[in-house]
Amino acid sequence: EREAIVLKLQDVEMAYGAIRAIKGVSLEVRQGEVVAIIGSNGAGKTTLLKGIVGLERVAGGRILIDGKDCTDVPPHKRVALGLALSPEGRGVFADQSVQDNLLLGGYSQRKDRRKVEELVEREFARFPRLKERRQQMAGTLSGGEQQMLAISRALMSEPRLLLLDEPSLGLAPMVVADIFRSIRALRDSGLTIVLVEQMANKALAEADRAYVLETGRVTLQGAGRDLLKHPDVRAAYLGKH
Ligand code: ATP
Repeated sequence: EREAIVLKLQDVEMAYGAIRAIKGVSLEVRQGEVVAIIGSNGAGKTTLLKGIVGLERVAGGRILIDGKDCTDVPPHKRVALGLALSPEGRGVFADQSVQDNLLLGGYSQRKDRRKVEELVEREFARFPRLKERRQQMAGTLSGGEQQMLAISRALMSEPRLLLLDEPSLGLAPMVVADIFRSIRALRDSGLTIVLVEQMANKALAEADRAYVLETGRVTLQGAGRDLLKHPDVRAAYLGKH
């Protein structure tokens, strides 16, 4: 039996003024899946994630969360429905401590102090590196640590669906491996994940399924493993072999 559909996009269109950034994208994400969205610079990956969480408005089509039309639901309500975004470029508060970044993430969703502190401790157990640096200003963390913090902060809302925008961006290969290990652990804990990546090989190797986005359209979709072997994908995104 197949798992329930957590997220469904039907013919979603998005635009910046006259620029059509997303031109009718349909996709679905089932509970427990890791779904990758790959594509080159400017393909529309970040735009699509913003549409999913409600940070940019959708010009056409529908976004369904658990089968419910949420196309016009504001971002904070989508968080309450179980969505959380770890944004591209991390977006941590540079002049706040690691711990305060997490607390801020927690209090945006709930008021119960004890519960929020419990969630911070859970994150510190997940990422011991962050625990060691709990008092350090986020802006002085390494790139990889900032990425961990961004993911961790997104997890403070206890999402069912985590959307990761280019978690490997600008990181050294060993650090990328660390981040992907963390993503795998989250998947193993049952979390559903949408992974936007330019590092197509890494993303496809992790993903149950994947979509290739080219100038605002899905041009290929399939099992991560199959796309990894697909000649068009290899030629465009994985270098020649
Ligand atoms: P990257 O990997 O480089 O972040 P991407 O696939 O995430 O690329 P988007 O950032 O979603 O792509 O951009 C899609 C298109 O929309 C691009 O042509 C981009 O220039 C345009 N775009 C993105 N944000 C805006 C904006 N705020 N105003 C106008 N155009 C935008």
